[in-house]
Formats: sequence, structure tokens, C-alpha cells
Amino acid sequence: MIRVTVWNEFFHEKTEPAAREVYPNGIHACIKEFLSVEEDITVRTATQDEEECGLTREVLDNTDVLIWWGHVKQYDLPLEIAERVKQAVLAGMGIIFLHSSHLSRPFCMLMGTACNLKWREDGDKERLWIVDPSHPIVQGVGDYVLIPNEETYCEPFGIPEPDKLIMIGAYEGGEVFRSGCCWRRGYGKVFYFQPGHETYPVYRIPEIQTIIKNAVRWCEPTVRANIDVFSSPNIKKLTD
Ligand code: ZN
Repeated sequence: MIRVTVWNEFFHEKTEPAAREVYPNGIHACIKEFLSVEEDITVRTATQDEEECGLTREVLDNTDVLIWWGHVKQYDLPLEIAERVKQAVLAGMGIIFLHSSHLSRPFCMLMGTACNLKWREDGDKERLWIVDPSHPIVQGVGDYVLIPNEETYCEPFGIPEPDKLIMIGAYEGGEVFRSGCCWRRGYGKVFYFQPGHETYPVYRIPEIQTIIKNAVRWCEPTVRANIDVFSSPNIKKLTD
């Protein structure tokens, strides 16, 4: 079983009627619901208002893939907890950053760049074009995914060159954005996925759910390594 923790700052859905209407129990509850149907996945949720932001060492030690949604409260996440998440990824935990999480502390730490972008919020239609149809994350999806309304994100996106770019978003205004990006960091796999503004029901679109399910399986750790520094045995002495 792949042990998934869906983490959400859980702020808009409690404070903004438009977000509450779309996700009455929070974005994390919606994602948990569609992942829980899968027989090879077990899901728990965590939110920023919990003790240690719901990200204790025990939670991270028992998480194979962490899904992250954050926005206005990202700078309230203590650096110590962000560092804990980063170290878990370097040691093998998979992580999926959704939408505005491009400015979350763990994402910026793992990328090492500004991770900024241009945006506007006009509810544009987005076509999410699949540029690598062979990639495991986009299996079961057609040439593109149509999102009826989405916040527009626009290049330049201040990320390091992805190891693999698998999706490009195109908006009604003509903007384009690197919407599906994969990296390796240490032993862990990182996937950034752009869709998911809090006032549009993007996570209820079947193809978006398929992509997130595929991404969970792609991010599953192959090993969980001890990344401490060790003294090395002298190979010559061992073989003499
Ligand atoms: Zn947004």
C-alpha cells in the first residue's frame, strides 16, 4: 500500500464563501475522497492548524507520498517544519506540490530558486496539453485536459529546469505555463502540478484526478535512505 498524506493549509475554505461552496470540507477532503477509492492507496489528511502543522516526524516517517496545497499561510509555516519536509524528500519520500504551493517553503527549499510566476484571475478556460504522452503520470489522459475555469499562471516560472516537463497549460489570453514538472531531489521524487485554484472545482474533474492518482504511484519511494554522513570503510583493508 502507498501511504499518502494530503496536507492543506485549510484557510480559504473556512474564510471565503466562494471557496467553501466548492470545497465545503476543504480541498484535502476532496483529494482524500477520490484517492481512497484506489485499492493500493491509503490516505490521511493533515492541516496547518494542527499541532506541528500536522507534520510531525512520525507522520512523515509513515508517509510515502505527501500532497501539498498552500497559499496565503505559507509564510506562517515554521522553517523547522519546512526543513523537516525537505529532509524527508531527500531521504526518499515523494511529494506533489499543487497550484499555489509553488511558493511554499518546502518547494522553494527543494528547488533553490525564487519559484515566482505571473498570474491573473479571470476564470479563463485552460487547455492542459500533454507534451510527453509516454510518461506514467499522464496515462489514461487524452491529448489535453480541458479545465473550464482556472486562475491563469504565466511564464516565466522561476524554477530550475525540470528533469522532465510533461504538461504545458495554455489559457484563453494566450499565456502558457509549465504545468506538470518532475524532478529528483536526493532519493525523493517531486512533481509540481499547476491546476487547482480554490474557487474552481478543478479537483473534481476526472482527468485531473487520474493525473494525481498516477502521480502518487510515480512518486512512491523506491528506497527510504539514511542520509546521515558516515565514515567509509577502507576498501583496500577489507580486500587485502
Ligand atoms: Zn490560485
